[in-house]
Amino acid sequence: MGNRTVVPVVGISSRTYSSSSSLSSSPSPSSNVTVTLTASTDTSPSNTNMSSTQQPRRRSLPSDGKTLGDFVSSSTHGLPVDNNNNNNNNNNDRKNNGRFFYIKTYGCQMNVNDTDIVRAVLLKEGYQEAQSEQDATIWLTNTCAIREKAEQKVWQRLQTQKNLIHKQQQHPKQEQKQPVVVGVLGCMAERLQEQLLEQKVADLVVGPDAYRDIPRLLDLLITETKTTSATTTAPTTTMGQAPNDDDDDEDDIIVSSASSSSPLHVGWAMNVQLSLDETYSDILPVRSTETPHSAFVSIQRGCSNRCSFCIVPFTRGQERSRPLESIVAEVTQLLEQTDGNTLKEVVLLGQNVNSYHDRSTGALAARPLSTLPGLSNPGFRNRINRTNHVGGYTFVDLVEAIADLSPELRVRFTSPHPKDYPNELLHCMAERPNVCNQLHLPAQSGSTSMLRRMKRGYSRDAYLELIENVRTIIPDVALSSDFIAGFCGETEQEHLDTVTLLEQVEYEQAFLFAYSMREKTHAHRVMEDDVPKSVKQARLQQLIDTFRTRIHAKNERVEVGKLRLVLVEGPTKRQNQEWYGQEAKTTVGESQQQSGTWHGRTDQNKRILFQVQKQSDATALVLNESFANDHVLAASTSTSSHQYSPNNNSSRSSSMTTLTAGDYAVVEVTEAKGHTLRGRILWKTTLANFAMMESNQLSKLHPEQLDGFKDHLIIVQ
Ligand code: SF4
Repeated sequence: MGNRTVVPVVGISSRTYSSSSSLSSSPSPSSNVTVTLTASTDTSPSNTNMSSTQQPRRRSLPSDGKTLGDFVSSSTHGLPVDNNNNNNNNNNDRKNNGRFFYIKTYGCQMNVNDTDIVRAVLLKEGYQEAQSEQDATIWLTNTCAIREKAEQKVWQRLQTQKNLIHKQQQHPKQEQKQPVVVGVLGCMAERLQEQLLEQKVADLVVGPDAYRDIPRLLDLLITETKTTSATTTAPTTTMGQAPNDDDDDEDDIIVSSASSSSPLHVGWAMNVQLSLDETYSDILPVRSTETPHSAFVSIQRGCSNRCSFCIVPFTRGQERSRPLESIVAEVTQLLEQTDGNTLKEVVLLGQNVNSYHDRSTGALAARPLSTLPGLSNPGFRNRINRTNHVGGYTFVDLVEAIADLSPELRVRFTSPHPKDYPNELLHCMAERPNVCNQLHLPAQSGSTSMLRRMKRGYSRDAYLELIENVRTIIPDVALSSDFIAGFCGETEQEHLDTVTLLEQVEYEQAFLFAYSMREKTHAHRVMEDDVPKSVKQARLQQLIDTFRTRIHAKNERVEVGKLRLVLVEGPTKRQNQEWYGQEAKTTVGESQQQSGTWHGRTDQNKRILFQVQKQSDATALVLNESFANDHVLAASTSTSSHQYSPNNNSSRSSSMTTLTAGDYAVVEVTEAKGHTLRGRILWKTTLANFAMMESNQLSKLHPEQLDGFKDHLIIVQ
């Protein structure tokens, strides 16, 4: 063991499925054990030839409907705390000062958000975050278990760490920091539990509902072990109550045995206990600063649907929603921290985000008589029993409450289930300019017989009806989906049904995967993973090719020539080389300008590249809105283009302003390159002003209007 300082510690416990968890920011001093359950996402198709009998509703500025006061009760229970101002100069702070941790995150946005929660928990206890693993003595990996490939990446990392540690133990160098604790967090920790210890790749194993307990477990490993000899707890039995399942009477109980300790170092600790109500609602996540204008906010955890292929209900537990008031408070705090100048986008996160339902005491008191909106349409079935007259806040209430916080804040959400898209939600998206016109509708398959085996609760026809309804209410919507190639028993015809669904709907984005069986799932228990790997790969490739061909054609048809509101993300990593694979030459008026390639996201979440006139590495010069809008609005109301041509002698400097990441800009789409767009930046704007322009039906510029700007626009050659 070389010069390692830790002494054996064994963390164990009785494994029970907890029905309550402390909302206090301090971990419970008692329990230290574990159990598991998981969840994932979905998609859906649409018919591009569908008829629309209903006039699209025009999006309007956020107005005077509900206000924050309608949603926030007087109770302060469950509000997030400001982890940076919590007067935490206490013993823990001093004790942990100088202990550096590093977290590597794999998987989805929920995992990114979970890492932010773990970071908040550790910083509050006085730990410090290192910029690299080499500078840390606590190595944490937040993991994903959704597919075999995702787990393989983590196994590789853990094996590399193990080899490094053993090498260091053989040849200790005084000046080189060595990890004291190697921890595995999240879904793989929940799924594999003792196996990670038996393989000697981790000292600490913590499931998604036990992050509050990490400081206590670290204490056991780092502090107490210095003075205590090994504490051994007898192996225990874990019993996890699986989610309710209407039509399944199998596998409701998960039983596993803890093994004896096999630590990577000399001690280990584990807590994989799942909770029925843990939402971390009182913890303000500490985010990385890479994209300060965008924040993920977790609103719901777990999933009770139990699609037959999915591990998520077994690693993340049952579905539960965070109180609306705590979510509103968190976003308000984020806006206040930056005077509303920096945060421009919030992504609401949950495993079944659109089945959000806040039934907290405060919500039931404020909304005792509310009714749950219906399922997407009559063709959808909910696998969880739910009564419609339940009180509390629903997902539409939450989206409206967040959208009301600032007209300049874009609201997105992921990952939803197609069963929970009632018309109330679709109309909310259509009418509010700051709720993005982007929907994820995970289909998983285009075959009704396959959807039945997958236990998805809808047919191909019902799904297509939903798409038609969505596109009728939100004509400019962008759709995305998830698909699995080669699920158990997939026939050639079932595969072709998925291909035709992709062709019919023409998704803007698709997440396509070859099936890999996961233990504990319904499929693992009763089905056979019988599609050969080579067939899975061939089918996956056909799905990828179909998607790519369709999206390129669709973007050329639908996007080119449109004006899009773009949330600017700044310079691309490759800067000038990204345009056409070589440095672009640009001119403004008569002169050559120093330009760079920047990028951003449209309301529909499409990435768009555009050239800017560089002012510095992080700023650019762009037309200001008053100059540009004068000409656009004049052009839109004039009968003659000559009346609104700008004065060529007008001062160029007075027409320009500075553009940075996090600003909104109007960009004209000039080209489609597969899924990515290219465009010409026109002027800086605000979300509210662009909405006003759209409501005047100025989604395209006439050539004579562009003439008015030509001396000011960057021209890419
Ligand atoms: Fe997994 Fe189905 Fe739940 Fe999505 S809805 S997380 S696919 S079980």
